[in-house]
Amino acid sequence: MNTNDFRGALESELSRSFGVTAENAAVWQLHDSISRVVMENISEQWKQSTEQHMSGRRAMYLSMEFLMGRAVYNNLLCLGLTEVVDEALKVHGRSLAELEDIEDAALGNGGLGRLAACFLDSAAAHDIPLDGYGIRYKYGLFKQSIVDGFQHEEADNWTKYGDPWSVRREEDAVEITYGDQKVLAVPYDMPIIGYGTKNIGNLRLWQAESAEDFDFAAFDSGDYDGAVKSQNDAENISKVLYPNDNTDKGKVLRLKQEYFFSAASVTDALRKHKARFGTLDNLADYVTIQLNDTHPVIAIPELIRQLIAEGYTFDGAFGIAHKVFNYTNHTIMAEALEKWDSKVVEKVLPEVYAVILQINEKFYADMYARRMDKAQIREMAPIGDGKVKMAFMAIFVSSYVNGVAAIHTEILKNDALKEWYEIYPERFQNKTNGITQRRWLALCNPELSSLITKLLGNADWVKDLDELKKLEKYADDENVLKEFMAIKEAKKHQLAEFVKVHDDKDIDPDWIFDIQIKRLHEYKRQFLNALSILYIYFGIKDGSIKDFTPTVFIFGAKSAPGYRRAKAIIKLINEIGDFVNADPETADKLKVVFVQNYNVSYAEKLVCAADVSEQISTAGTEASGTGNMKLMLNGAVTLGTYDGANVEIVEEAGEENNYIFGARVEELAEIMPEYDPREILFKDEKIKRVLDKLIDGTFSDGGVPSDQEGSFRELYKALTDGASWHVPDHYYVLGDINSYVETKLRLNADYKDSLAFARKCWLNICNAGKFSSDRTIKDYAENIWKI
Ligand SMILES: *Cc1c(COP(=O)(O)O)cnc(C)c1O
Repeated sequence: MNTNDFRGALESELSRSFGVTAENAAVWQLHDSISRVVMENISEQWKQSTEQHMSGRRAMYLSMEFLMGRAVYNNLLCLGLTEVVDEALKVHGRSLAELEDIEDAALGNGGLGRLAACFLDSAAAHDIPLDGYGIRYKYGLFKQSIVDGFQHEEADNWTKYGDPWSVRREEDAVEITYGDQKVLAVPYDMPIIGYGTKNIGNLRLWQAESAEDFDFAAFDSGDYDGAVKSQNDAENISKVLYPNDNTDKGKVLRLKQEYFFSAASVTDALRKHKARFGTLDNLADYVTIQLNDTHPVIAIPELIRQLIAEGYTFDGAFGIAHKVFNYTNHTIMAEALEKWDSKVVEKVLPEVYAVILQINEKFYADMYARRMDKAQIREMAPIGDGKVKMAFMAIFVSSYVNGVAAIHTEILKNDALKEWYEIYPERFQNKTNGITQRRWLALCNPELSSLITKLLGNADWVKDLDELKKLEKYADDENVLKEFMAIKEAKKHQLAEFVKVHDDKDIDPDWIFDIQIKRLHEYKRQFLNALSILYIYFGIKDGSIKDFTPTVFIFGAKSAPGYRRAKAIIKLINEIGDFVNADPETADKLKVVFVQNYNVSYAEKLVCAADVSEQISTAGTEASGTGNMKLMLNGAVTLGTYDGANVEIVEEAGEENNYIFGARVEELAEIMPEYDPREILFKDEKIKRVLDKLIDGTFSDGGVPSDQEGSFRELYKALTDGASWHVPDHYYVLGDINSYVETKLRLNADYKDSLAFARKCWLNICNAGKFSSDRTIKDYAENIWKI
């Protein structure tokens, strides 16, 4: 399409749909019409790609979350239409930038959901037949505002102005049966446009609707509530995304959601396969299913159940399921490992539970045959202690199990899932996570993209990120480094402007931008960052820290609404901000800013403007991380622990170009059993004066009773005495703080030599090739899916 074609199509679309002109259309109308023109334009290609995916071997990616972000810019980029559309809009005095008002599709919590989105993008770009399956939540992740330092949540009604990137496919609706309820799963398909190829993948999101029509009889007899009840009960299933990241709350509605999209996706696959081949015997030759964490593991007994209903024996069905399924583990943290009460599963999904019992029996039979220790068998069984253990069921049935970074997979093999690895070593693989460079460089940082393309002489890197390695030869080229520094400065100016508008905060683009953006979680240790800022503040005040390069510490993070300690940390960061920012003695050196509603679109602005990428999780807790990769790719140095993909980042880019600190996994294994954080407090005055601020009334936690989670005193107590089920300072905040502050200060001093610092940033960019999700997805395709 050229500019004139697009203009013509857009004008008639606006006129037909809304009776407006391009000049006076509301932003959402403009967005709606642009989308419709694009959708019309790709519809034939999309149909052909779908047909192609269905005719050969394909992979299905089942994920409870897809954190897609805004579609419009990415779709235009992938189609090569960005300039065409921008030109067309300019004629009418409009611009693409206006579409920033369009909300993100935030159907996910954080890294796990964003990974799913990056995978779809990479597979589409590289002609890998992969399609996503998930839930079309009516309300995605809540919108966050910060009021008086506290997090406030507001519903995210993301389809308020329609959803022009989706197509409802009524004809593929599936009936889903629970013990006490029947609902309809109606699919909405979203095109996943491959960059620089004709291939278009598909994201199928299921929406729950009532299987029965509105009950007019009940309505007529005056039972208004009864008339809408079944409708409401059905719609509730896909009404809202659970806002917990890395925690399992064990709620019945959550189990219903998991079964809802798993069963709908399995049914869809079987239907299509049978229609094409007339048999399911060869299902595993054509379909492979990747389970993104344990949330869709219920698809395993569901597939077996449906195969049995088709006349297969249990063993025959199990054999097919074994070939079809693969499972990705995302965490070893106990609070995230899904276990469902057997009684609940039996009540909600009686027929599925019957199959789980058979799987469990087969596990016992197989392990007895291996003459395994009986206590050990009980320990590993899919059903035990009155619970269904989803990860164990997944490992037992699947062909492959993978971790998401080298260190994480090693921990799985040698520790968390050691017994499983001993039985099935051939099932375990590592697939270090990745990010798509289309969104996370080409789209969000056109300035840096242009420089890279200019230096390389082509834009091959957009589909082959290893090309960046060729830029290493410019690491000592002062002119190139200065161009890079000018770009970074421009991105910092852009961010500062946005923060002013969005958060009404002033940040100085001449300062170091030290950025920690990710979900708020104790293991991610925003708390440690906050304490280090106070530590530095006191150091500047008492003169022990000299020549501190002015730094703004930027935080962006949502807390699960019910996670009180995380919410207290948000309040604490804001309290520290108010305290530090108001002190004229440090006002020209230190600033703390907490930005509101961190999401994909905000991330696109933040990652390009960062000098420092804070990746400071306790070693052994962050499975991979992907935020670390986004910041690296845009030329920030990592200030981080030896955890997750940080290990591989410094392996690629050099430890000397990053800032690694803190105890390592092996060290913590030695330290933690004897660890007493009070000993640090008694010995170290500088740490003590920081910690005292939590309990001396300097900061206001809003009056939460001091022994309750959510109060600053309770945060203090969690460090010194432990609280609830955690040992004292479970995440080793005090143990790592000295090493952290030292490293932070070394970085801060290094920054003064701006050229040397830019060189480090540059070398991080050059060595980010490994962290493209193109590499990850090709590895899945080759070594797990065999496509
Ligand atoms: C990338 C991303 C994440 C994951 O960040 P981590 O630092 O890896 O935890 C979370 N949320 C959003 C919006 C992201 O874009």
